[in-house]
Amino acid sequence: MMQQITVLGATGSIGLNTLDVIRRHPGRFTVYALTANTAVEQMLALCREFRPRIAVMADDRAAEKLERSLAGEPGTQVLSGQGGLCEVAAAAAVNTVMASIVGAAGLPSTLAAVRAGKRVLLANKEALVMSGKLFMDAVAESEATLLPIDSEHNAIFQCLPPGQVRNLAGAGVRRILLTASGGPFRNHTVDELQRVSPAQACAHPNWAMGRKISVDSATLMNKGLELIEACWLFNTRPDCIEVHVHPESIIHSMVEYVDGSVLAQLGSPDMRTPIANGLAWPERIETGVEPLDLFALGRFHFERPDLHRFPCLRLAAEAFESGGTAPAVLNAANEEAVAAFLGRNLRFCDIPVIIERTLAEIAVATADTFEVILAKDLEAREIARQHISHVH
Ligand code: NDP
Repeated sequence: MMQQITVLGATGSIGLNTLDVIRRHPGRFTVYALTANTAVEQMLALCREFRPRIAVMADDRAAEKLERSLAGEPGTQVLSGQGGLCEVAAAAAVNTVMASIVGAAGLPSTLAAVRAGKRVLLANKEALVMSGKLFMDAVAESEATLLPIDSEHNAIFQCLPPGQVRNLAGAGVRRILLTASGGPFRNHTVDELQRVSPAQACAHPNWAMGRKISVDSATLMNKGLELIEACWLFNTRPDCIEVHVHPESIIHSMVEYVDGSVLAQLGSPDMRTPIANGLAWPERIETGVEPLDLFALGRFHFERPDLHRFPCLRLAAEAFESGGTAPAVLNAANEEAVAAFLGRNLRFCDIPVIIERTLAEIAVATADTFEVILAKDLEAREIARQHISHVH
């Protein structure tokens, strides 16, 4: 059966990789909707190639511009705002939604796809980090199929027995070994970290990614967010997950069983592999990914993460332990701090400082509704911005 797909965040790194896989399988996938925020020119080119039924620009003015540019061309209706994003995520005709908007902005539309019971390919880890239990409850209630796209979580998913991904004890799993590249500053001293620039932080040694996740990867906050994501996806706790820095990024993560077996998923560092795994699951499809040449690689290395130089991983684990709205506060403060760093208004080393101060200032509340979570997100952004203006 032809799968109808909505790609949320189509102009981003994950969105474009998804469209590259879709492009290779015209008999299997059709694009129902594409979404972006402000990138009109890129969206116009994608609309001309994929002819989606609907294109959504989150930004109203960008939507007007796209509509004018598409005038006279048949087929694509233009919508705008969060309403438009949620509409195409939940549309009856859609089977599969790639949730690849970056940050908290992706929560409402990702959730709309979950509530509509879609096959949801989750790249937007921030949505799950913010709302963990409520998000997973919504998945259970709607019987949506949630498939992890983060390469680490997709690897773990592939190493677990089918149907047992939330029953690790029953499956005989002892622990999860979550791998991390260590980012571009793995060997920097604290002193060197004071002076790193946004361009250096975005130049990841192994992966080509969007700017926000590249900075997260450099601070190790990405691993912290992934630790929380893994706890929710696989129904486990941080003490059953051990982060292993593996600079080659070839082993995408591992699962250790009680009999001593360790299963790993390996591959070239190319997001088209986990994306294709999610699109075609449980089948396998061709992706254009470079085959692995282990002879050329020769060796793999492993190190423990250094929480002194990279405190964000510790902050994330602590926020998960605090529970309630703490992970949403962590995420919001991180988004603000990363945006300030990218705008040259904050030093790299001050990113964890801002997050820690924001977490200390906001009382943890029970995260029993999405409204509470979104209110904490706003409060945390406000406080983080005040701290940023003080240290700047
Ligand atoms: P990018 O920055 O490359 O792309 C983000 C996409 O989201 C763009 O389409 C952008 O539109 C859209 N967008 C941004 N802000 C908004 C908004 N306020 N409302 C609606 N849409 C918005 O990000 P990535 O593709 O790198 O990452 C996307 C998600 O996937 C993140 O959550 C990230 O953590 C996760 N991820 C990414 C990986 C990667 O390899 N890149 C690997 C694993 C996970 P526009 O272009 O108009 O700004």
